[in-house]
Amino acid sequence: MTHNCIHWFRKGLRLHDNPALIAAMRDCKQLYPVFILDPWYPNNTNIGINRWRFLIGALKDLDCSLRELNSRLFVVRGKPDEVLPELFNKWKITRLTFEVDTEPHSLQRDEEVLKLARDHGVEVIQKISHTLYNLERIIDENHGKAPLTYVRFQTVLKGVGPPKRPAPPPTLENMKGVSTPCTDKHEEKYGIPTLDELGQDPQLTCPEVYPGGEQEALKRLDEYMDKQAWVCSFEKPQTSPNALSPSTTVLSPYIRFGCLSARTFWWRLSAVYQGKKHSQPPVSLHGQLLWREFFYTAALGVPNFNKMEGNPVCVQVDWDNNPDHLAAWREARTGFPFIDAIMTQLRQEGWIHHLARHAVACFLTRGDLWVSWEEGQKVFEELLLDADWALNAGNWQWLSASAFFHQYYRVYSPIAFGKKTDKHGDYIKKYLPLLKKFPEQYIYEPWKAPRSVQEQAGCIVGKDYPRPIVEHEVISKKNIQRMKAAYAKRSPQTVESPAKEKGKKHKGESIKDMLTRKKKKSA
Ligand code: FAD
Repeated sequence: MTHNCIHWFRKGLRLHDNPALIAAMRDCKQLYPVFILDPWYPNNTNIGINRWRFLIGALKDLDCSLRELNSRLFVVRGKPDEVLPELFNKWKITRLTFEVDTEPHSLQRDEEVLKLARDHGVEVIQKISHTLYNLERIIDENHGKAPLTYVRFQTVLKGVGPPKRPAPPPTLENMKGVSTPCTDKHEEKYGIPTLDELGQDPQLTCPEVYPGGEQEALKRLDEYMDKQAWVCSFEKPQTSPNALSPSTTVLSPYIRFGCLSARTFWWRLSAVYQGKKHSQPPVSLHGQLLWREFFYTAALGVPNFNKMEGNPVCVQVDWDNNPDHLAAWREARTGFPFIDAIMTQLRQEGWIHHLARHAVACFLTRGDLWVSWEEGQKVFEELLLDADWALNAGNWQWLSASAFFHQYYRVYSPIAFGKKTDKHGDYIKKYLPLLKKFPEQYIYEPWKAPRSVQEQAGCIVGKDYPRPIVEHEVISKKNIQRMKAAYAKRSPQTVESPAKEKGKKHKGESIKDMLTRKKKKSA
């Protein structure tokens, strides 16, 4: 039987390592590559202009690549559960393919789509290619629970083996006998959206540092894989949060949108490592991809992963509700140049280094401002190009010492931390040009400069640049005590028991049980 197929691009905006797309092309007569633009989808309501621009770039690039296969991308506007049945009828679809997405909203959405497909007699093929592994398998191997430490995670992986090899990109050979029917009205009806259409003012964009798309992703990957010595010696803690050009790969936005397959990245790294001495997880580049996998697995296995309440692994903390402090942090007005420079880079470029994320996340939460990590998560979700539901939530919990990391007494100094890798404050001068005339000795603490120095620098603290919003030395000590109190109150379930570490059997609810329970509840 030959099929009329929709391949539904959601994440996975690429041709390489796209097994679901290849499955769509098999025994296929008509292929419709579809992206559904649903600005009302819960994950889409908090997207900043830079991320929309990245998505538009990725869609344009995908359309270009599909044209080379004599096909086109159809960007359909609406909600999947409304537009898909229409398309099933209109295009006489018999098969729907897509990549597995394990975010809770997506699981729920896909459950509905499966029902609709069944009602329309449409076969559905789903393939795993957003993650290195089948995450459910990892949870199964860990007795139905997500591993909650990296060490435990690695132990489980030993039994699972290396990730699958990536699928090769489709060629014209795969498209033999397959057509994509397009009309003259294609652009009008199914064209790539513009920023205007998405309600964004193009005038407000900053210069684009990281353009979206698979071609960009593969070019960037090639550039880094060419630096073999750098790849082999990569140790994340040795990279710098405030380098003027990124000290890590900045492949994260591409992986987030699926312009780059994590498995392709993994196996390219393996090829570079082959026969050479190289760094190891958790600090190596393989190790970074495993962090991603670790948080994805935790996000699938832990209920309410992006919240404090109802999240069984998260320490319950009495965070303050302080909109002024939150706004000052968000808008780079804390009076700490290192923090404000990072928040400026984030807003302008959509990417900041991992340790820079550490610095600002610790500052907002347990370090200084005592604002909930959920608030920080929202700001990152809006401004990061790589904003990723699982990774954002997991890392915010880590940095706020709410889960995974518990050494709450280790606080980053908003002054000393940046100095370690940028004594002269060049990074601050780049992102806060207002401060560029301050002498080196005051660049991290301009409020300490005598009035005459401030005048000479052309920037008066308290007038042109804010005074520090808090006194770090005092507040951080007080906050450690507040954390201590929160830890004293935490329930025994939040504590990772030694039994879990050793991988013993648990009596808790498994992910499968949880999903079945949820299904029953919603039925
Ligand atoms: P590299 O060091 O080159 O690493 C390669 C890849 O490994 C990354 O592209 C990423 O996919 C993965 N990776 C690296 N570090 C981590 C990590 N700690 N956790 C999970 N995956 C990792 N990363 C996101 O992709 N999306 C987010 O929304 C996100 N939110 C974060 C929030 C906070 C508070 C913190 C502290 C970290 C967050 N991270 C997030 C993790 C990390 O900072 C970024 O993945 C990394 O900085 C991306 O830069 P890179 O591609 O140069 O990383």
